Amino acid sequence: MPQETVDLLINARWVIPVVPENSVYSDCAVVVDSSRIKGIYPRQEAERLYSARQRLDLDNHALIPGLVNAHGHLAMSLLRGYADDHPLDTWLKEHIWPAEGRWVSEEFVRDGAELAMAEMLKTGTTCFSDMYFFPEQVALVARQHGLRCQLAFPILDFPSAWARSGDDYISKGLELSDAYKADELINVAFGPHAPYSVDDRHFERVATYANELDAGIQIHLHETRGEVDDALARRGERPIARLQRLGVLTANTQCVHMTALDDSDIQLLADSGAHVIHCPKSNLKLASGFCPVHRLQEAGINVALGSDGAASNNSLDLFSEMQVASLLAKGVGGDAAALDNHASLRMATLNGARALGIDHLTGSIEPGKAADLVAVDLSGITREPMYNPLSQLVHTPVGHRVSHVWINGAAKVLDGRLQSFSEPELAAKARQWRDRIRA
Ligand SMILES: [Zn+2]
Repeated sequence: MPQETVDLLINARWVIPVVPENSVYSDCAVVVDSSRIKGIYPRQEAERLYSARQRLDLDNHALIPGLVNAHGHLAMSLLRGYADDHPLDTWLKEHIWPAEGRWVSEEFVRDGAELAMAEMLKTGTTCFSDMYFFPEQVALVARQHGLRCQLAFPILDFPSAWARSGDDYISKGLELSDAYKADELINVAFGPHAPYSVDDRHFERVATYANELDAGIQIHLHETRGEVDDALARRGERPIARLQRLGVLTANTQCVHMTALDDSDIQLLADSGAHVIHCPKSNLKLASGFCPVHRLQEAGINVALGSDGAASNNSLDLFSEMQVASLLAKGVGGDAAALDNHASLRMATLNGARALGIDHLTGSIEPGKAADLVAVDLSGITREPMYNPLSQLVHTPVGHRVSHVWINGAAKVLDGRLQSFSEPELAAKARQWRDRIRA
């Protein structure tokens, strides 16, 4: 039988495909052609079947699906470490919102998005969700560098440098949605900021348009107990119940944070098919509260993982987020078996893709899916001895060990080097912003 010619053949020491569940393959090859995954084969079979234009031997590496960072604010990377040690309310109202009011512009968003995308690629994230002003700038940067993303355009009751009013946010966002409706890598979603910053009328408009366009809705929800208590005092209604009443809570809705939950909240999530985006490090840093991941998963709710912005993290390395999610689930649940290693990796990959509505395209290494792949070099004493590569991926620091990244079959990181960004230029721009903001 003549060999079929393909674009790329990757021999890896381990392949962890996420689907089928709980599998780790040794000494396999992943074959890629025309931006898609053709399959996973034993090495010798792959060599027999395929002649590859490019062939790579990754003898100490684990090959996994590209990570999906399902919630963030990319431009806030320029405020990394700007205001630490404050609770959410003070952090937002006294530090972040004033700084954003002074500095947010097209240039700020573009430079911050470049810094964030470069960091995410270097640490194995191939798909992200962003919620920030000037999303059209983020779209241009994402398109230039070939990242997969969801842009949840912001909607607020108050004006910003990007929009004058709730209706203005929505009309600008609809324009963006229209401009990218045929894009292969970029999806546009609605990003109503939070229940306390968006009124009923705008929520109803969001529900109507999102339904018409079959688009996602991403919202900060139940971020703190204070948010829930305030809503009860002011409206006599829990925030998630209000969203449900206004038609905003559907299987296309991505609820970010979800702390201070009672049984009725979990029931609403389960009944609607809405997704939860867990941001463990941001929740811990702002002392926001705990998302009961294990209980949500037991109720059949899809839980994905997000870093939130670098101003409240301060890292966009999703491997470290995976570890904290696992530790927190065990600690909060009082159960060392909560969120095992496979479940942690699934949360950072396939669950994220499901939440963003793109699990037919990405989130696992399966034939027919896009070749969004990440290789991590697991050699070195801090990962030895190697009983279980997945344990080292989740519980030892490996973000800096990402060696190769492909999105849609295109190489974005090779041998640890970013292919389309200049790191010295990114660092210089970030320092210029720091000097302006500090002055
Ligand atoms: Zn956020």
